[in-house]
Amino acid sequence: MAYDENNIFAKILRGEAPCIKIYEDDHTLSFMDIMPQAEGHTLVIPKEPAENILDLSPEMAGHLIKSTQKVAKAVKAATNADGVLVAQLNGSAAGQTVFHIHFHIIPRNEGLDLKFHARDMADMGELEALADRIRAEL
Ligand code: AMP
Repeated sequence: MAYDENNIFAKILRGEAPCIKIYEDDHTLSFMDIMPQAEGHTLVIPKEPAENILDLSPEMAGHLIKSTQKVAKAVKAATNADGVLVAQLNGSAAGQTVFHIHFHIIPRNEGLDLKFHARDMADMGELEALADRIRAEL
């Protein structure tokens, strides 16, 4: 499938759609997931138009995992989570719903189930407050 320049993450990268930004460098952008599966659910995307990991250049794969590691450490510290799930879905059969490659960073706590994937919108004020805490740990 050809990369769709109008997917929501491409719009966020172009500044045409909003996001609650956590981190940005020359190659990657990280922001809060607006339908979080747990408190602190954050996404990291490359600034390269790749639909999934099969399309991504090896150079950008390196940048993307470096930023994911950096943000995951900050998310874990900010949320005091027991663990952190890092996930990445390729193709609708794998559950992918936005077709610009991204890593999910999802705090996990003992005995607490994940919420449904991409279903319930978070309160934006709560997300902003969480984002402040995560940015403070970068
Ligand atoms: P995936 O199903 O792996 O493609 O995940 C897409 C993720 O993007 C889901 O967790 C959605 O909640 C999230 N999402 C969709 N639209 C937005 C948006 N505008 N801003 C932030 N996160 C979004």
